[in-house]
Amino acid sequence: MGLFSKKTAAEEPPAAPTVAQALDQLVQTSAKPSLFAHSEFVKQVSCPRCGAPKRLPSKTAYLYCDHCGSLVDYDFRLANSDTNAGLTNTVYHRLVAPVQALLNQARATGAADRYRELIRPVFAEWIRECPQAVSPRARTDEEFRDKMVTYLVECAVGKEFDPKITQLDQQMNAAIARLERWPNGDGPWRVSNGIWQVAELFKQEMELTYQLLEATGVLAIDPDEAPPGVPLRMEYSTFCQGWLPHLAPGDSDKFLGLFGLTGQYHRVDVTDAVTKKCGSCGDELRALPEASAVICESCGRKLDIAGGETPCQTCGAPLSFPVGVSGLECPYCHSGTHRI
Ligand SMILES: [Zn+2]
Ligand SMILES: [Zn+2]
Ligand SMILES: [Zn+2]
Repeated sequence: MGLFSKKTAAEEPPAAPTVAQALDQLVQTSAKPSLFAHSEFVKQVSCPRCGAPKRLPSKTAYLYCDHCGSLVDYDFRLANSDTNAGLTNTVYHRLVAPVQALLNQARATGAADRYRELIRPVFAEWIRECPQAVSPRARTDEEFRDKMVTYLVECAVGKEFDPKITQLDQQMNAAIARLERWPNGDGPWRVSNGIWQVAELFKQEMELTYQLLEATGVLAIDPDEAPPGVPLRMEYSTFCQGWLPHLAPGDSDKFLGLFGLTGQYHRVDVTDAVTKKCGSCGDELRALPEASAVICESCGRKLDIAGGETPCQTCGAPLSFPVGVSGLECPYCHSGTHRI
């Protein structure tokens, strides 16, 4: 979700076309530009919970297991094509600005509970306005969204109140301030070589942050139950999205390599997928026949596939109910229906 990258991006003047430009540049510099056609390719990764290999393509950067619905990985390439980091940063800064002085005061006096109280409404509103900044599960699932806000609050507190992390953060911001920015015709400005030091400091800061969040149990309250290493990769991904447009074209691969954001992709080869109707939003999705649970990428609900379809008692539409839900309003005919 790039929670900790916002500050970095704030140092830059807002540049609306950033993500599109990053994507263009990646396409230009990548040996295999067709990898961006995400309906054709899927990242090679296995589910850390059930071991199943990922076979179906994903609509968003959040890759969910085709069998159990767990979060499996985060796909940097898709992140570039389907989110707008510039926009979500802008929204975040608008929301945090009115309380920034009070947050600084709370941090300076070690008042963690006061800090929580101030930052919570900021994150809540940010997710409401920019659900695409976090997992698709936050789109309509209130309970999930609430847990996500709590998780973001605890991440912020953990980081902001740690002296070592704060120190690294200051060093990084100083390094950003020292960067030279050169005009580049109609394209985005180019940045000087100091960017490599910024990248190193960001990496150190994030490694330390996630060690701390792991040790203090904060990662355990992530409602997405992200597998180890994935939250860190999301931070790196957001950071790279912000800076790639400003690098010399030949430096992109080296920059991504520094953060381990490369990966193997394979062509989607699925002939046995079946179509299911989401009982929550009515959208159709493809599922493997042996799946137990899958995430509907349209509304973010985790659907029970193993339990079978339940025909709507009014219109007969075969609905896949969300896990743990026994009654709902049919998304097609809007009458109440329940599992028998
Ligand atoms: Zn799984
Ligand atoms: Zn749905
Ligand atoms: Zn119906």
